Amino acid sequence: MKLKFLITSLTSCSGCVSSLISLDFFSQFLEKTELCYFPFLEDNQLIDDQDYDIALIEGCVSTDSQIEFLKKIRKNSKKIIALGTCAAFGGILSLSKERFAIPLQDVVEINGIIPGCPPPTKLFGNCLIKLLERKEIELPKKNLCDGCPNKTDFILSKETIINKIIPDNKDLFEEGENCFLKKGVLCLGPITRQGCDYECIKAGMPCEGCMGPVSKDITSNIINFLSLANVSKDLKKYKGLYYRFSKPKIWRS
Ligand code: SF4
Ligand code: SF4
Repeated sequence: MKLKFLITSLTSCSGCVSSLISLDFFSQFLEKTELCYFPFLEDNQLIDDQDYDIALIEGCVSTDSQIEFLKKIRKNSKKIIALGTCAAFGGILSLSKERFAIPLQDVVEINGIIPGCPPPTKLFGNCLIKLLERKEIELPKKNLCDGCPNKTDFILSKETIINKIIPDNKDLFEEGENCFLKKGVLCLGPITRQGCDYECIKAGMPCEGCMGPVSKDITSNIINFLSLANVSKDLKKYKGLYYRFSKPKIWRS
């Protein structure tokens, strides 16, 4: 029997759902599932007595009505999967001073996450295959540095001055040492889960941490990590370093 899916968005840019639709695998996904609720593609309604096998939910919770909506979905769904960084960790809206941005798991119990902003193609496809096979999603357990094309034997220390979040041309085209940290550019690879296939790194941008932490809370990991290096005063003052994709749980309640 086909799995019954609900796919919906809370506060989001719709980038995760757009990425889903853009996957080569999406046509097969449609054939193998029963899409009971997917307002992005179909004009259908959430029906109170409809049961779903899997709810794929994009976006963070940022309004009271979304809390009620999410609780309703929880009641009717066997599994809830947080789709993307906003749903899994709170996401980019965490930078807002006006709105709250909380991950799904702060409101209801969830059964897995597909991280990334938006989730990277290969990982996304593999996660969907696992769901269709009725198996648990498996995420990489190593950090991004492990296997990074820019990795060298450089070790972060207090002698490393980090004063940039965006590399300049010299950083990108200089021969020799390639690790962004060595060049003084903040890269969150050491504390970020791998699985993105180094798309940003290969494009000349350091890791901003959208895949989430390998373990524990993003912000506390960033604070511990930055304490290992000599981070410039200006950079330390930039709050976006700490709350770009998540606020610490204690501040969300
Ligand atoms: S995780 Fe990124 S792509 Fe997905 S909804 Fe949030 S901001 Fe958009
Ligand atoms: S810090 Fe960044 S550039 Fe350096 S090895 Fe890790 S992921 Fe690669």
